[in-house]
Amino acid sequence: MSRSELPKVLVSACLLGQPVRYDGRASGHPDVLQRWQAEGRVVPLCPEVAGGLPTPRPPAEIPGGQGGAVLDGQAQVLTVTGDDVSDAFLAGARLALELVRRHGIRVAVLKSGSPSCGNLQTYDGSFSGVKVAGEGVTTALLRREGVQVFSELELEEAQRALSQI
Ligand code: SF4
Repeated sequence: MSRSELPKVLVSACLLGQPVRYDGRASGHPDVLQRWQAEGRVVPLCPEVAGGLPTPRPPAEIPGGQGGAVLDGQAQVLTVTGDDVSDAFLAGARLALELVRRHGIRVAVLKSGSPSCGNLQTYDGSFSGVKVAGEGVTTALLRREGVQVFSELELEEAQRALSQI
């Protein structure tokens, strides 16, 4: 398979060493992701920055932790000081969806625990470190499109899914 034919993967920019987290830091740069980058198959995105938020930015959480509820207008994304940043999160999720459609992406590796990117757990909105089963806003939208979303803790599963495309 030529380089241009390799299935592309959407990856959280903070997992590629980019300092785009709310605290102005990156979230590591796993070897597998570096290899995929070298193969030209990585499409990087930070949905929050793409949605218009600055770096650094105040931490934000979804009360109840369900990104799908934000998509449906039934929950908001709130910063620690109570500002509603739902619109930026929704804009970032829509940009992720555009990228996925443009590149025919079926697999994503997104940062665990994030109110945008989390795929199994998110914080519960209390800003006290409590996690609940849930997914971020971008993850929820991509899953509605049929994309398989893994985290940096599931890179073997992500590789398997990619090899089956
Ligand atoms: S977890 Fe997602 S939204 Fe947060 S910094 Fe990383 S890429 Fe951006």
